[in-house]
Amino acid sequence: MPELPEVETVRQGLNQVTLGQEIWGGDVLLDRTIAHPFSANEFLARLKNVTITNWHRRGKYLLAALTQSNTGDAGWLGVHLRMTGQLLWLNQQDPLQKHTRVRLFFPDNRELRFVDLRTFGQMWWVPASEAPESIITGLKNLGPEPFSSDFSIEYLVGKLQNRQRTIKAALLDQALVAGVGNIYADEALFLSGIRPETLCSALKLEQIERIRTSIIQVLQASIEAGGTTFSNFLNVQGVNGNYSGVAWVYGRTGEPCRVCSTSIERIKLAGRSSHFCPKCQQ
Ligand SMILES: [Zn+2]
Repeated sequence: MPELPEVETVRQGLNQVTLGQEIWGGDVLLDRTIAHPFSANEFLARLKNVTITNWHRRGKYLLAALTQSNTGDAGWLGVHLRMTGQLLWLNQQDPLQKHTRVRLFFPDNRELRFVDLRTFGQMWWVPASEAPESIITGLKNLGPEPFSSDFSIEYLVGKLQNRQRTIKAALLDQALVAGVGNIYADEALFLSGIRPETLCSALKLEQIERIRTSIIQVLQASIEAGGTTFSNFLNVQGVNGNYSGVAWVYGRTGEPCRVCSTSIERIKLAGRSSHFCPKCQQ
């Protein structure tokens, strides 16, 4: 599943190729990809002749600010890739991928194509009169962005102290911090030297500070890795994303720890696999 760094890489790519261009049409091949408005035809009608001025990211949500030459502010286009969604920047005559769900047509024969095998991905059009979170309700419950000053040590201590859940479950909670999923939670806990099953209430102040720093560090490193390989193919490949091949522990069960050569172990926590080094994470 794409996490914050992969979505951020897609956002940067979209800003490179789609800005200032007027959408002239499109096609919805799977109606339920469109979460708002109710009708796919209305979705396309609302996007016709609008221009994307900027792509923003909030957690794992992509939000394009829209303008129209007559009316000015034309609302927002929201996208969530969920498990397997991909945004591709292609020529309109390029053969359709089997799981193509939505096509948006741009000048010069270009196209933004949404391909999604598992069909959990969603798109929204939000009118200018509404706040995005009033239509895209998942935005309402998002915690702070990890790179923002709101994600402070004071904030994190307040959220973690006296809580009886595991730190792994806490990091996966989008209300605690936006955009961190299974990959980067495992990686941040490795860098912090903390076992995923540790209860939040047992964490010392110094450990919470290390967790905060590690989250920021691992997300930043992955964004930088993705940014260097970005092409016109806005590709987000399932679980590996930007991080393919360089993970400390994620997806490396049974392989030697890159620090101490101990075999990486995996346990189930909160229904998800957690990977850790039994020696480096005590
Ligand atoms: Zn180790």
